[in-house]
Amino acid sequence: MSSQSTIPWFDDFMGVAYRYYDLRMNVVPLLTDRKQSAYLWHDTIHWWLDSSIKIRFVETGDKYWFIMGSDSQKPSTNLSFFKVLQKSENYERFKKGHGGEAYLRLGVYTKKLLGDVKKSALCNCSHEARDHDEGDDDVCLYNNCDCKKFTSFQVNLLKRKKTITDIVFLEEKDVKDDPLTWNCLNVNKYSKSERN
Ligand SMILES: [Zn+2]
Ligand SMILES: [Zn+2]
Repeated sequence: MSSQSTIPWFDDFMGVAYRYYDLRMNVVPLLTDRKQSAYLWHDTIHWWLDSSIKIRFVETGDKYWFIMGSDSQKPSTNLSFFKVLQKSENYERFKKGHGGEAYLRLGVYTKKLLGDVKKSALCNCSHEARDHDEGDDDVCLYNNCDCKKFTSFQVNLLKRKKTITDIVFLEEKDVKDDPLTWNCLNVNKYSKSERN
């Protein structure tokens, strides 16, 4: 086995955003805490060699596994990332449009409430803040929208970035041929379901 098998798996992040920014698609693992994102970059991702960064996607129904790992110049603090996520339009857009290259950046995700935003900010229900009642109960007043509370979020992309050129979409039947993916599913899926 390669040294891959000794690198801990990390899934303590919210999800992954796919954004077009700086002329290239960006893959953005999302954290809710700015400090945690700083540690993660400083201790782990900073030491990755761009040419060895791998991201893998394995689809299972309407979900997919996001898997990311790399060789590190500081193996003692290296981590590999994974998360099982819901497929989304942005994910599909990334799948079609990445062209074999992407930037890796971390993002900090902040939830916004009605009092934090401009009138034109969009709620998750797709209507603007001005369409929401400003009383205690900020229900959406737009036609027959059933949104009960204004919620929106903001993603701040951190400046530092790495370039990823090893991007592969796999089917589950093929994961055995890909050491990073195989290790991930083995540790985080197969060995767990056997124990149940
Ligand atoms: Zn609405
Ligand atoms: Zn709403």
